Amino acid sequence: MSTPMFQRVALIGLGLIASSISHVMRREGLAGHIAGHARSSETRKTAADIGLVDSIHETPEEAVRGADLVILCVPVGAFGPLAAQISAHLAEGAILTDVGSVKGHIIEQVTPHVPDGVHFIPGHPVAGTEQSGPESGFAELFDGRWCILTPLKGADQAAVAKLEAFWKACGSSVDIMTAEHHDLVLAVVSHLPHLIAYNIVGTAADLEEVTKSEVIKYSAAGFRDFTRIAASDPVMWRDVFLTNKEAVLEMLGRFNEDLTALQRAIRRGEGDALFDWFTRTREIRRSIIDAGQDEAVPDFGRRGDPTGSS
Ligand code: NAP
Repeated sequence: MSTPMFQRVALIGLGLIASSISHVMRREGLAGHIAGHARSSETRKTAADIGLVDSIHETPEEAVRGADLVILCVPVGAFGPLAAQISAHLAEGAILTDVGSVKGHIIEQVTPHVPDGVHFIPGHPVAGTEQSGPESGFAELFDGRWCILTPLKGADQAAVAKLEAFWKACGSSVDIMTAEHHDLVLAVVSHLPHLIAYNIVGTAADLEEVTKSEVIKYSAAGFRDFTRIAASDPVMWRDVFLTNKEAVLEMLGRFNEDLTALQRAIRRGEGDALFDWFTRTREIRRSIIDAGQDEAVPDFGRRGDPTGSS
């Protein structure tokens, strides 16, 4: 058997992303031993019952001891206290990384606690679902998806290359960029769409003229596609909006301007403007399919009425 890339990997937080990493590490034989820690005893018990990792630890300090790769997989708002807690227990030469959806805030919170000789390389696998918890992970989550690394100035290049090789072995392609650029890009492709979905689902739920049962009954007309995103973890998304405030507000400003333009086109009966706009957006969907980031099956592959439109 070939030597695993890392002797001991510590996963801190055992939700969707950590459990998917554990499954893919086993699939690819990337870790000699996988140690895990989650905050609550319920999650630790579930993880133990399903054999998610090789050892479960009551504290993050115990889990990281002796690990040559530590991956922090907790909500973005939890990084500061966690980094302070594990700091003195990290092994010399270890790579410390994370999977958080916002990079600037995490770097601010974690960097002061990184001891000399430990390589902190922030990361973000751009892959996920609306599920959470230790039972929601699957080994294929990262296949064909992108993982973004945002190393700090002066980062150890050998450590960056090793983490890049790790994510590639997990099935991902890897991009490297600054944390600031990451936070702006993700505000457009992830954070704003989630905010819009949370908003539209909330609006429909609050309507008085149309009953809730009608909203649910006729949801295949479009509404239900927003509900998948709006079912995402409330803690994770609360933290994302609180910690990527500036970029999200900037993108929200642009979104509002464009929405006003569409509103005006509808009011003035400017059919050509609407047609051009919708033609452009349809092309974006085609580009996503061409780039292998989604499949061309109608209605996202659901069975039944393939049009899903009205
Ligand atoms: P999740 O399924 O909700 O799991 C979160 C885990 O973190 C749980 O094991 C939880 O433990 C633990 N945790 C929560 N608060 C904690 C605290 N204060 N201290 C220690 N542990 C704590 O979340 P996830 O979807 O895997 O997300 C984890 C990270 O990945 C987040 O930073 C998120 O931004 C990022 N991410 C998510 C996605 C996605 O689509 N979900 C995609 C890419 C990146 P308990 O269960 O015991 O509370």
